[in-house]
Amino acid sequence: MDKCLFCKIIKKEINAKIIYEDDMTMCILDINPVSDAHCIVMPKKHFEYFSNCDDDYLSAVAKTTKKIANVINSSSLGNDGINYLVNEKANANQEIMHLHMHIIPKFKKEEGFHVSVKRNNKKTIDETYEVLVHQLFSN
Ligand SMILES: [Zn+2]
Repeated sequence: MDKCLFCKIIKKEINAKIIYEDDMTMCILDINPVSDAHCIVMPKKHFEYFSNCDDDYLSAVAKTTKKIANVINSSSLGNDGINYLVNEKANANQEIMHLHMHIIPKFKKEEGFHVSVKRNNKKTIDETYEVLVHQLFSN
């Protein structure tokens, strides 16, 4: 994708703090970190979303995420926990439309990344269950 920021980083047309790359993935430091060592792992092929990413690339992203998480956890940074985050579509706060996994180390429970919930359930759990199981088995 010509205009994709992450594709330009992958092609080294734009500088980034690349901390790891292999044939299928790249990991960079987030330019606007929520905490120290906030990283982004992305597939080297352009996929907009988690849900339409090729399975091999998705698996590679997961493996790289685990590898970097273990590097962070064994480093001298001193985190105690990590949040892993993938946003899908602008409505869910995806800003760059190239699938990416955030690795956000947690240092103190009350600092860094937080999940805020405004419940908007319209269906009961039984109704939702029926919708999803029907969809799963109708394909
Ligand atoms: Zn891209």
